[in-house]
Amino acid sequence: MEKIALITGSSRGIGAATARKLAAEGYNLCINYKQRREEAEHLIIELEKSGIKAIAIKADVSSESEVMRLFQQIDEELGMLTALVNNAGILLPQMTVEYMTAERINKILSTNVTSYFLCCREAIKRMSFKHGGKGGVIVNISSAASRLGSAGEYVDYAASKGAIDTLTTGLSIEVANEGIRVNCVRPGFINTEIHADGGEPDRINRIKSHIPMQRGGEPFEIAAAISWLLSEEASYITGAFIDAAGGR
Ligand code: NDP
Repeated sequence: MEKIALITGSSRGIGAATARKLAAEGYNLCINYKQRREEAEHLIIELEKSGIKAIAIKADVSSESEVMRLFQQIDEELGMLTALVNNAGILLPQMTVEYMTAERINKILSTNVTSYFLCCREAIKRMSFKHGGKGGVIVNISSAASRLGSAGEYVDYAASKGAIDTLTTGLSIEVANEGIRVNCVRPGFINTEIHADGGEPDRINRIKSHIPMQRGGEPFEIAAAISWLLSEEASYITGAFIDAAGGR
């Protein structure tokens, strides 16, 4: 069967590394981004060198209408989706809970949680045996933060990732008999630009002595876990979590 994957938020970081890994494995790909058109377009040129088909679609995945358009465009330009990697996520500058506004909290929740639900919904409509689909796989990117809580940094972000853990558990059971596996990767301390968005570009250097492996991780190390969960080698695995956080 032709393998067609959507990776949300794949103009850079873990999403872009996952795109490189999946392209090497022969997936046709949709790269999704919110702002960084140039990065996404450069990535498409690189991915197509593997001989696969890749398209870049700008869509804010926290918006229901943009998610609907994103999936329709994939139907038209790539064909029936077989894999979804829910990866788009944001951090806002470090702050304790006592200073958080409703606007900030809602921005985190709509980008990190509502978007995952919406993309799961649209993927299920295409993959589920119940809807005439041929099955598929979903991998949700959560975070070690869901276990650790991110005190003094961003408890709102950590709580959004807790919601993704629960989404994974509940949805995996709902669709287990419809040909869809739903799993989760919980990275921690990965060298990407997200930490600059949290207000501390050098965060991993500061905390690396508290990581058992004494180093941050690289995006390709997360991409490897994602691609394995998507693969047939993980055919009996659903509702599972891979913690990729150097031992924390
Ligand atoms: P980056 O900040 O490097 O990349 C985030 C990506 O998400 C970008 O491609 C960005 O696109 C996209 N994005 C953001 N908001 C939206 C939106 N509303 N709609 C569509 N795309 C959007 O992040 P990482 O690669 O570090 O993180 C990827 C995932 O991994 C996130 O879910 C994050 O929470 C999680 N994670 C990361 C860890 C780390 O240490 N790096 C640790 C644990 C979890 P654009 O640039 O175009 O706006």
